[in-house]
Amino acid sequence: MRKFFRRIFRLLLLAILVVLAIVIFKTYTFHSMQVAIDPVPRAAADEKAPERLAGAVRFETVSFEDRMDTLPFLNLDTFLQTTFPRVFERMERIDVAAPSLVLKWAGAKPMLPPVLLMGHLDVVPTEKETIDEWTEGPFSGKIGDGFVWGRGTLDDKLNVMGLLESADALLEQNYQPERTIYFSFGHDEELGGRNGAARIADYFKNQGIRFEYVLDEGLLILDGALPGLSRPLAMIGTSEKGEATLRLEVRLDEGGHSSMPPGETAIGILSEALNRLHENPCPARLDGPTLELLQHAGPETSPFFRALFANTWLTKGMLIRQFSQSASSNAVVRTTTAPTIVHAGVKNNVLPSTGYAMVNFRIIPGETPESVAGYVEKTIREPRIAVTILPGAVPPSPVSPTNTFGFQAIEKTIRQIFPEAVVSPALVIAQTDSRHFTGLSDAVYRFTPVRLTKADLSRIHGINERISVDGYQDLLRFYGQLIVNSTQ
Ligand SMILES: [Zn+2]
Repeated sequence: MRKFFRRIFRLLLLAILVVLAIVIFKTYTFHSMQVAIDPVPRAAADEKAPERLAGAVRFETVSFEDRMDTLPFLNLDTFLQTTFPRVFERMERIDVAAPSLVLKWAGAKPMLPPVLLMGHLDVVPTEKETIDEWTEGPFSGKIGDGFVWGRGTLDDKLNVMGLLESADALLEQNYQPERTIYFSFGHDEELGGRNGAARIADYFKNQGIRFEYVLDEGLLILDGALPGLSRPLAMIGTSEKGEATLRLEVRLDEGGHSSMPPGETAIGILSEALNRLHENPCPARLDGPTLELLQHAGPETSPFFRALFANTWLTKGMLIRQFSQSASSNAVVRTTTAPTIVHAGVKNNVLPSTGYAMVNFRIIPGETPESVAGYVEKTIREPRIAVTILPGAVPPSPVSPTNTFGFQAIEKTIRQIFPEAVVSPALVIAQTDSRHFTGLSDAVYRFTPVRLTKADLSRIHGINERISVDGYQDLLRFYGQLIVNSTQ
């Protein structure tokens, strides 16, 4: 018997040693994926550019759910034309989806597939109740304390103005791109882009134009993005999540009087179903862009985290548990579940026989609205509840590869302008106008070249939206360099 235990013990020890050897080997061979590119000399700052961004902020180009206020968009258009006369003179304006703005900068070699650089002109409304909390009025376009303040300074007038400024500066030097560049600035991104980006995409489709790559707003350069990583992380969105709202409707044969309630009620059945969904979130997955992020950024982390990220074959479960802890990281490992509307009953002494709930899902790559509906049916196990997918559901966008000219041009430009940053692909949990262009290029990316801290993220769509003047100057350097890197 003792011999037997000794043998088991030896086997166990051997297994532990083998695992340990693999962990050490994997950690040791977890090489950096950062491309070695020297930073470029810093171009001189354009002192007037922040004032022009502030000027664009002053136009209240707000996307309202229920109405369209066109005048501010027309005024912004005039402002852009008078601010960048050279751009409008030397580029061709394509008349599509007004008041969106589409420009073509013809390249010397028309046989090269063009590049599409995007942004959007509209902004989200500000809540009346919070207006007093703004240091400067959301549309005042003030510059102070080293920041340009106001709605649109982070989402998304910085990208529109940044691209136009950079193109204008190159035009001033008589720069002639070899490859054609298109600029597309939609006017209703915050409402889904149906009248702007979608129609612009249709135009390109009808023209038979396909793009070498597409770059839209998206992820940023973030400090403290990953545990164990002391450097800022520049995340290039290679995919964005899809979305579906499911309607769960319960229908019983009868309701009844509340003085003698039956064992089961419509409200009880619906509550039980919602509770099951809450208790059983969609399964987590560590694959696609999120796994790629760990592969790209992992080698740059401290030794402990390097070992963790290098050995996802062993640490996957633990990593998923960690990711699931916070709302933002949970959203990159699974389809999220959010009940948004519950409705049942009309009178306080009548038991309703019907009721429904709306549940909003943000869908991770690898899943579809249909597969999510299947998961919901399987989880609630309730034949009296009908599950339907509401119109407007969008699958996640295809995952763009990282071995493309476009990814490499963006990556190279980040290394040149933000040498301190680590570059990685990542999943975008929100939606952008770029999703309308996924059929027009295999290489669609979402990245905004600005460095922020995690605390700054709440300013996007929130109170005291602002961009630092220095950060904006770096954004201009980035776009100027990216255009050159993409079109030479
Ligand atoms: Zn935006």
